[in-house]
Amino acid sequence: MEHHSTAQRIRLTANVLLALGSGALVTGALFELQALGVIGTTSSWDRPSVIEAFVPVVLGLVLAGLGLYARGRAISVARATPLTFLTADEERQVLDEIALFETRTSGEIRVHLEGHVEGDLLARARQVFEELGMTATAQRNGVLFFVATEDRRFAVLGDSGIDAQVPRGFWDDVVAEVSARFREGAFATGLVRGIDLAGEALAAHFPPRTGDVDELPNTISRGETES
Ligand code: CA
Ligand code: CA
Repeated sequence: MEHHSTAQRIRLTANVLLALGSGALVTGALFELQALGVIGTTSSWDRPSVIEAFVPVVLGLVLAGLGLYARGRAISVARATPLTFLTADEERQVLDEIALFETRTSGEIRVHLEGHVEGDLLARARQVFEELGMTATAQRNGVLFFVATEDRRFAVLGDSGIDAQVPRGFWDDVVAEVSARFREGAFATGLVRGIDLAGEALAAHFPPRTGDVDELPNTISRGETES
């Protein structure tokens, strides 16, 4: 709730800035037209100078720019908690992608969202990996996508079975691909991309076994949100 109201405050500020910016732009444009003699009485020599008339235009551009920036901030703040990081639709997309790949591999993919992580992200991700029972798969082929939503940090962990099969640098590549999308605010797209990459690797090395079971539930787990 705390973050929701913060986001609302920023959004309000953004709208005020955008309104002021638009106002200044329109005023500046009118001054400019007057200065150029396009509008106004031709008999008056009391025209603003072209340069002076430009001031409100610049001011308007700066205010509108700040407004757009604040609007972007409001969106990222609103999406900064484990509960708001994904919309219901996006969560469905992510879970569908996990389910899709788990028909092609015995491997298990999970997503965990946490608010803030104190200190080492990877250490916390390993701890969650254990807590979720992800080290208990028969072939040690669980893959966890771990997101610290408030910190805007992300890690991906593969268990020993899959880790032994993928080339060096594979996980870094996955992190880079996902992070690039997260940076644009495309959280579901980022996760889906990561699931695709990990899923293809799992499918290549761990095809479905006869009588394969869903060893880990296809759900998104969420940690406590510290504020
Ligand atoms: Ca399975
Ligand atoms: Ca599963």
